[in-house]
Amino acid sequence: MARTLTHKQLETAVHNAYDACKDLAGGQNAHYIPYLANVDAGLFGISLCTPDGHVISVGDTAYRLGIESVSKVHTAILVLRQLGAAGLLEKIGADATGLPFNSIFAILLENDHPSTPLVNAGAITACSLVEPVGDADKKWQAIVENMTDLLGSAPQLIDELYRSESATNFENRSIAWLLKEYGRIYDDPAVSLDLYTRQCSLGVTAEQLAISAATIAADGVNPVTGKRIFDAALAPQIVSLMATVGFYQHSGDWLYTAGLPAKTGVGGAVIGVMPGLFGLCAFAPPLDDAGNSVKAQAALKHIINGLGLNVFSNEAVELAK
Ligand code: GLU
Repeated sequence: MARTLTHKQLETAVHNAYDACKDLAGGQNAHYIPYLANVDAGLFGISLCTPDGHVISVGDTAYRLGIESVSKVHTAILVLRQLGAAGLLEKIGADATGLPFNSIFAILLENDHPSTPLVNAGAITACSLVEPVGDADKKWQAIVENMTDLLGSAPQLIDELYRSESATNFENRSIAWLLKEYGRIYDDPAVSLDLYTRQCSLGVTAEQLAISAATIAADGVNPVTGKRIFDAALAPQIVSLMATVGFYQHSGDWLYTAGLPAKTGVGGAVIGVMPGLFGLCAFAPPLDDAGNSVKAQAALKHIINGLGLNVFSNEAVELAK
């Protein structure tokens, strides 16, 4: 018989994690993007959303944070919707790199494909693949519409972050052109890079991100709007991408200790998906050496370990009706 989790238990778990982690020290804001370096390092919030549309939030969950690499999940979903699971595998790949998010070495090592849409190289390729190829405005519209569907409400571009990142993204420029050299950019490289930079600069709240994670946990139906966003058959592919490389070079250690497929961004957000049970987002700007939020990691682990959950466990767990 399945163990039943009540909404009350989830609420207690979220509040306990907030209390246990709120004074945790350590880490540093992303320093290589000037806008992010100046964000208040004391911000902290956690949101959880269930497939039946309950949202539990504590702390700074209405703060508009830079989505950064969490957006790689949303645009990977768009590419899956447009090209299907086999198309994404063929054009980008679904492998771990074991290397930092902006690794050029990873591209040189595996120059036949950019490994995964959840590192910078694969995410820039993903932007190049977004249809309609050749029309930058319509591509951007498709990226924002898909993100809006997943979040349940619209993101807003943070102009200052976009300018800050565009002025300093020299490494990503190298990545885009190297991918072009290897035949792995399917649209104009400058347009593809710009779309990637702009999507990273979208402002979203932790609550919106938790709703998008819950859309994945609910096999493609947004729990708040009730709208089907992607085919249920794609959900395991999305979760597998997150599990494989969501924490970059620390992905294995994360999965081993937290048992939660999750994806981080240098803006300080981490989203997690427990299929069938809930989507989560924790947010706090200071990051570890791999670019993953220190406090958000601790908070998510606290919740998952505290509830005795693990995506690899064979214990059947269901949400109380
Ligand atoms: N926009 C950032 C970059 O490309 C995202 C990195 C991240 O969030 O991991 O460097």
